[in-house]
Amino acid sequence: MNILSKLISCSIILTAISCSNKDQALEAENAINAKDLEKHVIVLSSDEFQGRKPFTVGEEKSTQYIADEFKKLGIEGGFNGNYFQDVPAVELNYSPDKSITINAKNGEITLENTKDYIAKTPHLKDSVEIKNAEIVFAGYGIVAPEYGWDDYKNIDAKGKIVLVLVNDPGFATQNKELFKGNAMTYYGRWSYKYEEAARQGAKGVLVIHSDKAAGYGWEVLTNTSASGISIQAKDGNAQKCALEGWITDIAAKKLFEKSGLDFDALTKKATAADFEALSLNCNLNLTIKTKLKFANSKNVVAIIKGTKRPDECIVYSAHWDHFGIGPKQNGDSIYNGAIDNGTALGAMLETAKAFSKLKTKPERSIVFIAVTAEETGMIGSKYYVENGLFPPEKTIANLNYELLLPIGKMKDVTITGFGQSELDVYVEQAAKEQDRYIADEPFPENGMYFRSDHFSFAQAGIPSLFIKGWQDSRENGKEWAKDQINNYWANTYHKPTDEYNPETADLSGCVEDAKLFFKIGYKLANETTIPKWNEKSEFKAIREKSMAK
Ligand SMILES: [Zn+2]
Repeated sequence: MNILSKLISCSIILTAISCSNKDQALEAENAINAKDLEKHVIVLSSDEFQGRKPFTVGEEKSTQYIADEFKKLGIEGGFNGNYFQDVPAVELNYSPDKSITINAKNGEITLENTKDYIAKTPHLKDSVEIKNAEIVFAGYGIVAPEYGWDDYKNIDAKGKIVLVLVNDPGFATQNKELFKGNAMTYYGRWSYKYEEAARQGAKGVLVIHSDKAAGYGWEVLTNTSASGISIQAKDGNAQKCALEGWITDIAAKKLFEKSGLDFDALTKKATAADFEALSLNCNLNLTIKTKLKFANSKNVVAIIKGTKRPDECIVYSAHWDHFGIGPKQNGDSIYNGAIDNGTALGAMLETAKAFSKLKTKPERSIVFIAVTAEETGMIGSKYYVENGLFPPEKTIANLNYELLLPIGKMKDVTITGFGQSELDVYVEQAAKEQDRYIADEPFPENGMYFRSDHFSFAQAGIPSLFIKGWQDSRENGKEWAKDQINNYWANTYHKPTDEYNPETADLSGCVEDAKLFFKIGYKLANETTIPKWNEKSEFKAIREKSMAK
C-alpha cells in the first residue's frame, strides 16, 4: 500500500467513526420528547409539592423525585453513588429598627423601614448594632483597574457606612466607551457593591435604588426583605459588612439635601473616573435583630463518568427550589413555579436521558445538578462550586436551564451574556443545526447574566451559558413572542399563577432547547478544547488565575 492509499483508507476509517458517533448522538438526542418532559413538569409543579420551598416537605418531595429519575436513567449519584449533597444553610428572619433618625448639618431626617430603606445583615448573630457610623458617598462603589476606575481612591471606608449608586457609569451615561455602555457589567450589581464595600472594610453598605438603573421596582426588594438564606459560614460571615441594604433614590436625595449636598450634581460627577468620594458628615445608628434557623438543604447531583478524560467535566444545572406557600393572590397561595423552574428541570432530565442513551459514553464527565435556594441568593450553586465534585479548573463549562417558556418552537436562541465567552460559537453551531439563529438578550441593562445559577460558576471563572428560545416564535413571530414574555413578567413571574396547564402549554420549544443543550454538551464532552472567556469579560482574569494552579 502506498502512502496515498494509506492516507485515503485512514481518512475513510476516520470518517466512518465520526459518522457513527454522529448517528448515535442523533439517536440519543431523539429520545428527548414532550410527553416525558411534561410528566416531570406536572409532578414538580403539582400542589402536592407545595411550591418546592427549601426546608419544607416540598424540598423532600422535589429532591427525592429528581434523584429517583436519575436512578431510573441509570445515571449514578455524584457522591459515591449518593445523589444528595447537604448544603449547610441558615434561614435568617430580620427585624430591623422601624425607623432611623439621622442628625445632618441642616437638621434631622427620619427614614422608615421598607418605605425608605431595607436593612439586612449577613452576620449569623441574634443582633447587629451600628453605632455612630459615619456615612460616606462612594459614587458607584466600583474598583475596576481594567477601566482605570477606583471610587474608593481617596477615602478610608473602614468602619463607615457607604452609600453607592446601583448599576454602572456606562448605563448612566449611555456612553459605549464607558464600561460596557448600556449593558450592565458585574460592577453594576448590588452583590458586587456589597463585596467591594466589605473588601474596603466598611461597616455597612446601602445601595441607592432607582427603577431604571436597578431593572426592577422597589417592591421587588421589599417583598423579600424580611428574610434570607445563607450558607453556614465558619466565621459567621464576619468578613462581610454588618449592614447590607438599600435606600430609595428619593430618600437618598433628602438625606443629601439635609447634609447640604446636591444629589443630582454628585451622581453626575460619579460618572467620571476623577470623582472623589466624600463624607455626608453625619452618622448612622441602627439595630437589626435576627432569628436564625440552622438546617441543611440539598443539592441533587448525578454523574456520567468520562471514558477518556474523567477528571474533566461539563456541568448542567437547574434550580429545584421556588417560593413555597406565600401570600394569597386570587384565592391561591401555592407558588407552584411551573416555568420557574419546572420546565427547566424537565428539560435537564430529558437532556440527561439523551446522555444515558449513548452507546459510547462521552470522553469528559457529565455532571447534572439540581440546586437549592436559587431564589434566595443562589446559595446551592455557590455551595456546589466551592465544594464540588471537580475543582473549577477541571470544570470546562456550565450550561444552566432557567425559565423555559412552554409557548412552542422558537427561531432564536437568546444568549444572556452574549459576547462573554467562546461558548457562544458552540451555541451558534448547535442552533444552526436546528435552523435557528443566535440573538443577544433584549435588555442587557437588567443584568440578567448575574441573576441565575450559571453566575455562581462564572464567579469561579468557569465559562457559563444561560440560553433559551425567547424572542421569535416560529409560528407567530416576534411581536407575539414579546407579548407572551411581557405577560409572563407581569402576571405569572414569582406568583401563584405560575402553574402548568396541559391544555394551553406547548412544550415543543422546550424539547428543542433540551436537544440544543445536549448538542452543545456532547460536543464539549468529546473534544480536548477548553473554551475561554473573551477579552473584555469580567471573568477572564479569574479563570486564568485558577488555570495557572
Ligand atoms: Zn428561576
